[in-house]
Amino acid sequence: MIQYPPVPSYYAASANRAPRRPALLGPCEADVCVVGAGYTGLSTALFLAEAGFRVVVLEAATVGWGASGRNGGQIVNSFSRDLDSIERQTAPDHLRLLAEMAFEGSQIIRERVRDYRIRCDLKEGGIFAALNPRQLRHLEAQQALWRRFGYDKLELLDQQAIRARVGTDRYTGGAIDHTGGHIHPLNLALGEAAALESRGGVIHEHSEVIQILPGHPATVKTREGEVAAQFVVLAGNAYLGGLVPELGAKSMPCGSQIIATEPLDEATAKRLLPEDNCVEDCNYLLDYFRLSGDKRLIYGGGVVYGARDPANIERLIRPNMLKTFPELAGIKIDYAWTGNFLLTLSRLPQMGRLQDNVFYSQGCSGHGVTFTHVAGKALALAIQGQAEDFDAFVSLPHYPFPGGRLFRVPLTALGAWYYGLRDRLGV
Ligand SMILES: Cc1cc2nc3c(=O)[nH]c(=O)nc-3n(C[C@H](O)[C@H](O)[C@H](O)COP(=O)(O)OP(=O)(O)OC[C@H]3O[C@@H](n4cnc5c(N)ncnc54)[C@H](O)[C@@H]3O)c2cc1C
Repeated sequence: MIQYPPVPSYYAASANRAPRRPALLGPCEADVCVVGAGYTGLSTALFLAEAGFRVVVLEAATVGWGASGRNGGQIVNSFSRDLDSIERQTAPDHLRLLAEMAFEGSQIIRERVRDYRIRCDLKEGGIFAALNPRQLRHLEAQQALWRRFGYDKLELLDQQAIRARVGTDRYTGGAIDHTGGHIHPLNLALGEAAALESRGGVIHEHSEVIQILPGHPATVKTREGEVAAQFVVLAGNAYLGGLVPELGAKSMPCGSQIIATEPLDEATAKRLLPEDNCVEDCNYLLDYFRLSGDKRLIYGGGVVYGARDPANIERLIRPNMLKTFPELAGIKIDYAWTGNFLLTLSRLPQMGRLQDNVFYSQGCSGHGVTFTHVAGKALALAIQGQAEDFDAFVSLPHYPFPGGRLFRVPLTALGAWYYGLRDRLGV
């Protein structure tokens, strides 16, 4: 059995207790076999189990070992590219469904937390912070766009209003999304796994899928066992590796890095984030931060194209944190970790079928906490024969990365450098 390295994150160190889930040994049968126990896989499996399907989830490492257990914990509505971009790329009927789903993921998470009593430090309110007037104008346009699609919970903040919520002078203004918020991401994944098991679903950890043989049923093989399933859902995202070359060709794993400070005293935590909201700035290569349940500042940023692990994460991220909060100069960093998300060229997610009974969803390009929950619902409904939501996602075009495997990393990094430069110049 391959041992996946433990993740040195604050989340792993503060995870709720979870049972050991044995590897798959020998053959078994299921209605649906899901590959990957991140939010995409767990959300799909849970919706299906609630509908009475026999579901088996195969996870190469452990539940939430991928991005779902390592991320910034920010519940951000809509998609990595917003509805105006989607509007240009799909038909009105699909757009209408996608616009509804853009604001549904945050509600699905809240329902899961409530219905299954998941302890994951859920807090309300997500802030987009503008570093210059151009970004503030963008947020005004975003508010108008979201209103056009019936969502009115995004409130603009002037300089004084954002200063009252974020204790730094860096921002020109911003916006608060009242149905945004934040969570302990690994505990959300662990809670959803427990919810799935409470509905009869089965999860095998340490069970890397190495081959999928098409058919009815399809056969999903690990080194020590196999599942004969009527349907298969591929939910390995940035960690799927070479299992399905077709999916790898139109996406690129990228790393993002996070540090967690030692717990802050009550007064400092209140000065930094008086309302306990989470924050992401509006740069192309953005910073994101929030307080944990035990009042650490969790601060993330940076993108490593091609997902090589950087040598010293603290040295990479700490200067950004100090730019925002200079008063933390003497604060100790207790944890530093990296994780991979999956970038697509359009920055829109990719959903589809490889065969009539083999589905996939991937590539939410860094904003996946809400999307993955919506994706789970859309995939589960498609398997039940109601494919409208799924088809709306399928209608979004998929593009291969220019440069192929060899040149996609330098070419994309060059593009990001250009947008980063524009942000630094404020143009
Ligand atoms: C550092 C970081 C910060 C982020 N911050 C935010 C944020 O604040 N807000 C936000 O909205 N999004 C954020 N994201 C993005 C978000 O975390 C992801 O989009 C989302 O978690 C993806 O979920 P997933 O289930 O599709 O993939 P993952 O969570 O990566 O899960 C995939 C799983 O599949 C398993 N797997 C892969 N291949 C196989 C195989 N062959 N056999 C069996 N199992 C396999 C992996 O081990 C893994 O556990 C962040 C991402 C990162 C990396």
